[in-house]
Amino acid sequence: MSEYKKQAIDIIDRLHKENRIGYQDYLDIHDGLDEMETLRDRDEVLEELWGQFADVPMNPDTECIEERFMGWGPGIHREEIWHWFDERHSKGVAYLLYGGAEDYVPETKRLYGLRRSCFECESQTCQFNHGGECRFALVHERKPRITDDDGCIDYDYREGDD
Ligand code: SF4
Repeated sequence: MSEYKKQAIDIIDRLHKENRIGYQDYLDIHDGLDEMETLRDRDEVLEELWGQFADVPMNPDTECIEERFMGWGPGIHREEIWHWFDERHSKGVAYLLYGGAEDYVPETKRLYGLRRSCFECESQTCQFNHGGECRFALVHERKPRITDDDGCIDYDYREGDD
């Protein structure tokens, strides 16, 4: 990374820490600076940031960070931060999670993609509903079919519920 770029990043990091720049502006400037790099350089920066992220204390029950990290404040769920890395690193967050252990990367990437297909659903009596979230995609590897007329046609009553 060039010295100019490093200085620019230090400045926007400082402005953000001091709440003198909006979160979206911060991300936009960060992305703009990143675009100037080759993919390899960019991955190296992201891997460095990922290493810093590993040192951020995390609540094991909520899986939310307990201290500020880059633009995220305490209480942000780790998956939101994973998602940010996943969109930017050339090999995705699975590569970062497993430190490039190639055997695990494709499978983890696939599972992570499926995990991101889960969404909130109020049908708690459906057996695919887990704490208000639809996990259908994790079982069937596709999203449930939801129509305007009938709602979710993959709804499956959970045996044992009244
Ligand atoms: S399968 Fe349909 S009804 Fe069941 S949790 Fe998913 S979206 Fe909700």
